[in-house]
Amino acid sequence: MPEYPSLQKQVNNFKTSFAHVTLSLANKKYRKLLKVPKHIFKERISICKDCERYVEEHHRCEECGCFVGIKARVGVEGCPLKKWSALT
Ligand code: SF4
Repeated sequence: MPEYPSLQKQVNNFKTSFAHVTLSLANKKYRKLLKVPKHIFKERISICKDCERYVEEHHRCEECGCFVGIKARVGVEGCPLKKWSALT
């Protein structure tokens, strides 16, 4: 059974992600970083699939509780274990 972070921690993670996306939308310079190019998305997913914290049956990260298929698409998002970085 996967052990995701507490619900409160997941809510806080979501709030942080939402804030990053909102700030990016508000700033023209970062807007283009919202959706990563396909090759970066594939690279991130590949790293996640090899990660011990990846839960294949739910396509989620046990470390942050995020859905990997969404997290890896967002340029301003980064891996909580620093296995891949946010675009800057
Ligand atoms: S986001 Fe990071 S910690 Fe989570 S599954 Fe992907 S590589 Fe692992």
